This record gives sequence, C-alpha cells and structure tokens, in this order.
Amino acid sequence: MQLEDIKSPFDGAVIGQAPVATIADVDNAIAKAVSGADLWRHTPAHIRSAVLLKAAALADERSEEIAQIISGENGKSLLEARGEASRSGEIIRLAAFEGSQLYGSTLPLDANKGTGLEKLGFTLRQPVGVVVAISPFNYPALLVLHKIAPALAVGNSVVLKPARTTPLTALALAKCFIDAGLPEGVLQVLHGSGSELGNALVTDSRVRKISFTGSTATGTHISSVAGVKKLSLELGSSCPVVVLDDADIEYATDAIALGGYINAGQVCISVQRVIVDEKVMANFLDALKPKVEAIKIGDPKNPDTKVGTLITEAEAIRVEASIKAAVNAGATLLTGGERNKTLVSPAIVCDVDPKSAFAQDELFGPAIAVSSANGIKEAIALANSTVYGLGAGVFTKNVDVAIQSAREIDAGIIHINWTPLWRADLMPYGGVKSSGVGKEGVRSTVSEMTEEKTIILHGRSW
Ligand code: NAP
Repeated sequence: MQLEDIKSPFDGAVIGQAPVATIADVDNAIAKAVSGADLWRHTPAHIRSAVLLKAAALADERSEEIAQIISGENGKSLLEARGEASRSGEIIRLAAFEGSQLYGSTLPLDANKGTGLEKLGFTLRQPVGVVVAISPFNYPALLVLHKIAPALAVGNSVVLKPARTTPLTALALAKCFIDAGLPEGVLQVLHGSGSELGNALVTDSRVRKISFTGSTATGTHISSVAGVKKLSLELGSSCPVVVLDDADIEYATDAIALGGYINAGQVCISVQRVIVDEKVMANFLDALKPKVEAIKIGDPKNPDTKVGTLITEAEAIRVEASIKAAVNAGATLLTGGERNKTLVSPAIVCDVDPKSAFAQDELFGPAIAVSSANGIKEAIALANSTVYGLGAGVFTKNVDVAIQSAREIDAGIIHINWTPLWRADLMPYGGVKSSGVGKEGVRSTVSEMTEEKTIILHGRSW
C-alpha cells in the first residue's frame, strides 16, 4: 500500500505515515470482517472481556505516546490531548463490562388471549455482525473508542475508517487491541478518502451496522445510500447556552470561557450560541471578556498552551471569514477572531441576529455568538430556533425554570448550571433533529450494536 505523510496542522512537521487503502482493500477488509465476526460471536463473552481488559491496560501504558500522536496530528494542545488519551483505558474497561451484561427478558406470553402456560418466550441479545465505524478528526481517540470498544465487547467485527487527517491515533489504538490478542479480521483500520472508501463501506450489503460521527451533510448522504442497515449518526450542532437574570455570572462565564473554546471550538458540543437575559447582558460581557482573552493559544507542544490549532488552514480561513461576515451583517466583535495560519484567537461576537448564519450554521471554531432574550420563554424559543439539537446548557438558580428548560429545550443532552461541553463516557449521548439518530455512551452503544431476538419455545399442555 502507498504510504501517506500525516502532518502537524501547526508547523507541517511529519508526525508519521499511514498506508492508503483502495476500493479493492475495502472489499478484502469486509470479506475478512465477515469471517472475523463469525469467529468473535462464537467466542464466549468472558474471553472477549479478557482481551478488552488487556487492551485497556495497554492503552493506559501507552497513554503518553497516544497523547503525543493526538496532539501531533490534530493540533490540539498536549494538555488537552493528555486528557483525551487518559480516558482510553477507562472507555475500553467500561465496554468490557457492558459487553458482558447482555441480559434479555422473559415474556409473559400467557397474558396474550388464547395462550396458556405451555409456551416459554424470552429475548436474546446477539452481535449485529460486521460494523463499519467512521469517525471525524476532532477527538481522534475518544470517538474511535466509543465505537470500536463496545462493538468488539459484544462480539462484532469492525472496519474502522478514521478521518483522513487523524489516522495515526486510530492505528495506535487498534494496535492495543491487536497486541492484547484480538484475532485477525476482528478489527481493521482503513485509511483514505472518505468519499471513496466511505461510500464503498456504507453501501456494502455484508455490513449490518454503520456507526458514523461527522457532519450533518455526510450523515445525510450516508443515510440516503446505506440501504437496510442499522444506523447511528452523531452529527453537527450549534449548541445554545442560556444565561438567565438570576444566574451566578462568575460561574457561568468561567464555564463558557471553557466550553466555547476547548479544542479551538471544534467540538460537536461546543458552546456556539449564548442567549443572555438582557437585564444581565452588560455584567455578563464584562465578566466573560477577560477570561476569554486569558486563553493562551499557540504551539500545541508548549506546556503553557491551552488551545491549539484548527485542523487545517482552510478551516481557520473559513472560521475567520464567518466571524468577519457576522460583523459585516451588524454584529460586534468584542475580542479575538484574528488568524495566524491555523490559529484563530478566541472570539466573542455580540449583538448576533439569532436568525443569521453565524448562529444558525455550525461554526466549529473558537468563537461564540451572543444574543439577548427577554425572559425564559424567549430564551427557550431562541435555543430551539436552529435545525440542530445536540446539547444545551442553562444557568439559573430557579428550580422551576430548570425543570421547564429540561422539558422544553429540544436537545439530546441538557445541562443545568453547566455548558453542553461535558461528557461522562457512560452517559447516553446523542442528538435530536439534524444532530443525529441513535445514542452513544457505552451502555447505549452496546444496545445499538446488538440485535434483540425473540425466542418462543412451543411446548404442549401437560
Ligand atoms: P466529515 O467531513 O463529515 O467527516 C467525518 C468522517 O466521514 C471522516 O472520516 C470522513 O473521511 C468521512 N466521510 C467523508 N465523506 C464520506 C462519505 N461520502 N461516506 C462515508 N464517509 C465519509 O466531518 P469532520 O469534518 O471530520 O468532523 C466535523 C463534524 O463532525 C462536525 O459537523 C461535528 O459537529 C461532527 N461531530 C459530531 C459529533 C457528535 O457526537 N454528534 C462528535 C464529533 C464531531 P475524510 O476525513 O477522509 O473526509
């Protein structure tokens, strides 16, 4: 296979090389995955679990090496990359546990009119077979592991296609599983073009399940070509945070200064829109501005750097242009928005028209759009005003308003007194509306990566 250089988005240094797969490789990989799935589903859960626990120990041992790769190929600060890498072992251990909990239920068939006690019914959970996992660049370890660890734990085989820009992390993680004793054909990584390889993978009839994380545009395309398969689509967003007039402004601005800018805003649950009650707008902006200006951006390897680069210069140019377009349309740039190659300084854009593209379209960059609202009803209407619905946050001390927000905001994950940028690996995670279909989070993924069969034993009356 031809090797491709994978380069640092910060300075173009070569971080490593990855073999580029062809369409013929896709065909071979799926054929191997079919045999791998057959072997692995016939392997008892305690043996699968032991392999995963060994892989988790290797991921722990190799955490620093994985962090260096993440930061090198993705451009996020080493500080953030270490945080991400350190969760690898835990996610695999969680999957090893959940994969051993494939309980079913007994069916009360005699409650069906005309049925007696002569039948016995129950449900049985089994692996789906061949899983295709397609992941984005922004969390090259976490988003890969949230797919492959539960898939393997329950007995599936996986063909993984990581983002073109960040394959080295995926290869390093796959090596942990292989070194732990995962049999051949059970996990394969194919690096290459999403449109070519991705299309071949998702349309193949031998594949039973597609687990995709990426943009809404790609997810929409996949759902239109995949055919009859199980689909999990974790897609784009424009997450809102509501700051009400009774909120603790210092606390809320501390959280927003993190939640809008971590990973240079390239997070599906990043704070993109902040809807502030007009009564506290001035205090809010006064408190937020110095916190955002204190975020140190720069060389990802520098220990003082909090936030690194965008994934490519083209992405940095796009984000810079979006900020400028918002200002040309009447918004006010309070701070930031300057670009130096792949770095964009953290920006606060105020007076944003909530209907404008800057609020409505996913930005995926280090800027927040601040708009005002008059009271909770208007704030919720604005929070719900985009096509997306992944995460949302509400800052208030009023429990009635907290409950109203939890019930009325259209999002898959709602945080009261924090921003959407928070995740525990065990919690159900996924969006509504154009943010996707299905849930991740290890227990939820185990459910999505298995099929539930209904078994009926037909006895005779005694
Ligand atoms: P993307 O362009 O949609 O790419 C995601 C993955 O899909 C990549 O591996 C890509 O390969 C592949 N791909 C591209 N075209 C394909 C096709 N026709 N068929 C199959 N696969 C194809 O997204 P991205 O720019 O990497 O990631 C950013 C997006 O991901 C944002 O919209 C963000 O909100 C979303 N995201 C969502 C979540 C969530 O949990 N909801 C989490 C993280 C990110 P190439 O790299 O080779 O193009």
